[in-house]
Amino acid sequence: MNLDEWAVRLRRELETEHRWRTLRPLAGSGRVVRSGSRELLCFSSNDYLGLASDPELTQAFAAGVDGSVGATASRLLCGTTPAHLEVEAALAAFVGREAALLFSSGYAANVGALPVLAQRGDLIVSDALNHASLIDGCRLSRAEVHVIPHGDLDAAHRILELERPRHRHAWLVCEGIYSMEGDASDLAGWRSIANRHDAWLYVDEAHSLGLLGPRGRGLCAAEGVHADLLIGTLGKSFGMAGAFAAGSRPVIEVLMNRARSFVFSTAPPPGFARALVRALQLVEEADDRRSRVLDHARELATGLRELDLAVGPVDGAIVPVLLGDAGAALVASSRLEEAGFLAQAVRPPTVPNGTSRLRLVPTAAHTDGDIQSLLEACGRSLVGLSE
Ligand SMILES: *Cc1c(COP(=O)(O)O)cnc(C)c1O
Repeated sequence: MNLDEWAVRLRRELETEHRWRTLRPLAGSGRVVRSGSRELLCFSSNDYLGLASDPELTQAFAAGVDGSVGATASRLLCGTTPAHLEVEAALAAFVGREAALLFSSGYAANVGALPVLAQRGDLIVSDALNHASLIDGCRLSRAEVHVIPHGDLDAAHRILELERPRHRHAWLVCEGIYSMEGDASDLAGWRSIANRHDAWLYVDEAHSLGLLGPRGRGLCAAEGVHADLLIGTLGKSFGMAGAFAAGSRPVIEVLMNRARSFVFSTAPPPGFARALVRALQLVEEADDRRSRVLDHARELATGLRELDLAVGPVDGAIVPVLLGDAGAALVASSRLEEAGFLAQAVRPPTVPNGTSRLRLVPTAAHTDGDIQSLLEACGRSLVGLSE
């Protein structure tokens, strides 16, 4: 078969299901983005604290280059600079752990760490709404994976009761705030089940780190819950890119030796690592930004519920509006765009079939007026759209 024919056929299939995606260039980042000649208020980024376009951080980034643009090799060859070690130490201290290891993305962190920590003969209990990188990490691990309905700790308990004795080690894998659902995990509940069944707890704080907890230290810190391994990403609240795993020194040193996405990948640029140090300082100092974005999210959720739109529990900055059908979500998104807002539809496979949604994300860069005008546009554009 001709390869292009195969690709075109697949494309048609996806188009029929409203699942075909395209890239479009947007200029500027932050509160306002430009699409061609149009300006749109952006409610689709993960730049919760508005740091991506913060003048101090953009300056630190520009000033970070010192002699070499690239790291020139993987970390274990000759790609480690003092800046890499400095940011790792600072991130570890930030989350109150002995050590941290920098990865080039959250995706790389999860597909790298999970297969090292869980292996054939081990058991993983994983939340149904875990991020694709967690799912892929679980698959690569060769452990026996049991997926529980979202947040169903009773189901986790039952599986462990049944399966734990047959397995050498067990991991529970969850997120802090769920990326498409916007709700928080009951981390204390996860911890207590882990303790009861001699299991370890893996928490991905992509959407809670920098946003929740004292000085932005995340949901584990806010709840006083110990994660055996904590993942934080640096492309969301931190406004940059990359991620880290944090834990005890022995565990992090094993990851440094064995995580394939770390070992076999070029180190993040040294200037980038330098700017990350500054990003972390800005995150720690961002109490006012944190309260602003959380206020915005609460206000948006309340206003949308008053419009009788389906909005679940909102525990962070992510406000999903459930629309059901992928086509309806696309219509909602394009109507809002006509009204001057960028609000992307989230469709399968990112979310389960029949749960397509708009994922609205206010940031600290938005004004109260921005939230009000988005609510008004939702009132005009979305009511009556869901099934
Ligand atoms: C965004 C996200 C990731 C991936 O992080 P990147 O740095 O964007 O690769 C991992 N886990 C969760 C829960 C996420 O939301």
